[in-house]
Amino acid sequence: MSVSSINPATEEIIETFEPHSQVDVDVALAKADERYADWRLTSFDERAKLMEKAAEVLEGHVSDWAPAMSREMGKPLAQAEGELKKCAWVCRHYAENAEGYLMDEKIKTDASQSFVRHLPIGPVLAVMPWNFPYWQVFRFAAPALMAGNVGLLKHASNVWRCALNIEDVFREAGFPDGCFQTLLIGSDGVENVLRDRRVRAATLTGSGPAGASVASISGDEIKPTVLELGGTDAFIVMPSADIESAVETAIDARVQNNGQSCIAAKRFFVHEAIYDEFRDRFVEGMKNLKIGNPLADETKIGPLAMKSLRDDLAEQVDKSMAAGARPLLETPSLPDKGWWYAPQILEEAPDSAPAAHEEMFGPVASLWKVSSLSQAIARANDSPFGLGSSICTTEKTEIETAIRDLEAGSTFVNAKVASDPRLPFGGVKSSGFGRELASDGIRAFINRKTVSIA
Ligand code: NAP
Repeated sequence: MSVSSINPATEEIIETFEPHSQVDVDVALAKADERYADWRLTSFDERAKLMEKAAEVLEGHVSDWAPAMSREMGKPLAQAEGELKKCAWVCRHYAENAEGYLMDEKIKTDASQSFVRHLPIGPVLAVMPWNFPYWQVFRFAAPALMAGNVGLLKHASNVWRCALNIEDVFREAGFPDGCFQTLLIGSDGVENVLRDRRVRAATLTGSGPAGASVASISGDEIKPTVLELGGTDAFIVMPSADIESAVETAIDARVQNNGQSCIAAKRFFVHEAIYDEFRDRFVEGMKNLKIGNPLADETKIGPLAMKSLRDDLAEQVDKSMAAGARPLLETPSLPDKGWWYAPQILEEAPDSAPAAHEEMFGPVASLWKVSSLSQAIARANDSPFGLGSSICTTEKTEIETAIRDLEAGSTFVNAKVASDPRLPFGGVKSSGFGRELASDGIRAFINRKTVSIA
């Protein structure tokens, strides 16, 4: 059955695609396997030249692919442009650093020489989400290809134009055919690919159920896997914080990508000494965000990417309010067509409310008053997830306590959580396992071969 990309701002079909058949997938797997046999033998210099070129290709396409991305999944245009430029950055980062990240590690033993050499492992399957349709893929692909692996992408079914453009990046950059291939398949086609003996590893960014499914197949097949899953990131504000800057950061952290980011701050814990001031400014800032056409310059909030996401979020908010959470913002009138959801702040959601423990994937913030840092941290940790966390404070002891006690893959101080090619990225608890980016990212799919020469 054909698959359509639908503009979430208008509900119009943009483009329709024919999924790949089983035969197409088999051809792609054979090509990946064949290509890997010689790609793994290329030098870092050869790979780096091509990866630099990939960065140039991405930059050359900002003016056409950014609006296409906005149309396909609703991201405000400036953010789409920023995303493509960030992909160029990650390509350059690994072009420049892959060799250093994968240098032999010498170890002193009784042998005349012993060391660890980092070797590629083969074709890697990437199952990716729509919310950062380029960035999520490039942060996998740049290190994987620079390490000498080859990539197979199964992208989310609502962003197949982005998926095909990504394949084009590597083609236009001059990578040999088969280094990176997009498979137009649905989630039901993942198992078949993952169980294929030629596929050596998998990475999935997405929801918990998708992660659990891929992890159980990978476990069954004994294939290394990285999982980047959801988050309910906590954002703590303490009395010493610069309130104006904390509010600005909080709003940006919550509504980036229309609120559909795994590392968006979702639960805000604010100390009672500054609570009222923070809340009033937070409400004012969220109220003034311009909702509208993602292609318009002034737009800060576009539509949610799919109808199901909008409906799920609306249900979570309704249930939270029924459980006792207080909405602090009125809903403005929204266009009839499109999957819009206006920013909202829910105050003091009780433990039983979805806002207290589920991931809310849209521009809805949950806000609580706390009387101490220890209370804030205890509540922050009372979540199945552990992706990112933020604290706004200038007190050294509070910073140290937050770093030590917050159960999360990262803690950002006086800043929103953000991914950066130079920093490892990943979560704990139900947010997944393994790390992307930096040296960890390139070592995720590597054979750390021990060598000992007598
Ligand atoms: P999703 O429904 O899990 O989809 C993600 C990808 O997995 C898509 O390609 C999807 O394919 C595929 N998929 C879904 N179910 C699958 C299954 N049972 N087996 C194999 N593949 C399956 O997630 P989403 O709603 O698109 O993305 C939002 C989620 O991703 C949020 O929870 C968010 O927090 C998380 N996320 C995490 C990170 C991170 O780095 N930790 C980054 C971004 C997003 P189809 O589209 O064909 O269904």
